[in-house]
Amino acid sequence: MSAPTLFISDLHLDGSRPEITEQFLTFLRGEARGAQALYILGDLFEVWIGDDDPDDDKRRIQEALRDLTRSGVPCYVMHGNRDFLIGERFCKKTGCQLIQDGTVVAINGRRVALLHGDTLCTDDRDYQRLRRIVRNPLVKFVFRRMSLKQRQKLAEKIRAGSKAHIESSMETIMDVNADAVMQAFAKYRVDLIIHGHTHRPAVHTLQFKQQPATRIVLGDWYTQGSVLRWKDADYQLSTLHRPQT
Ligand code: MN
Repeated sequence: MSAPTLFISDLHLDGSRPEITEQFLTFLRGEARGAQALYILGDLFEVWIGDDDPDDDKRRIQEALRDLTRSGVPCYVMHGNRDFLIGERFCKKTGCQLIQDGTVVAINGRRVALLHGDTLCTDDRDYQRLRRIVRNPLVKFVFRRMSLKQRQKLAEKIRAGSKAHIESSMETIMDVNADAVMQAFAKYRVDLIIHGHTHRPAVHTLQFKQQPATRIVLGDWYTQGSVLRWKDADYQLSTLHRPQT
């Protein structure tokens, strides 16, 4: 019997929600220590303005990730749509490895495609347009060269302006497009996809080229945790109840 591989996403860690941070730190010091590997499939942080952000919460989280990787558990981090500026310094500090959206891994001998999930939500035209803008290398280049203060200010502005949007987006993130899912099975040549982003945790069984295919959606951590545990040939998507404080 081997140690389980763990998959999580969409924690949206932020100083304004300390209970999520606490639950994640407990998870890192506890269950994650016994894992074969930990995969974080995007939106670990609500916002990431750069690896030089001295924010206290983010420092504690990075130290806990470093402790995990130093204990011998590999940790793989994928960019989400909120923390896509996580970079090399973060990796050096934490020992985590960045993996690309669409990475194919072998879990217990099975090919699995890992995605954040936002690229599957093609019905949301406004979002896809915004994604193209903020992911544009030139925009990223300019943002990275702004001072820390300028970036903090900009993030504050965006936060203030989108407070209502953030709250409503907890319910209104558009679901995946069925054709985009089929295209992803074809593109990555897999019959299993794991992703987050939509905050609709579920294990979907569907048909791709007359064969069964599976799409596992990880849950967000807003009101409780969510983890996919893959052990030997079996996997299970579970809720992590949050202790009342
Ligand atoms: Mn997301």
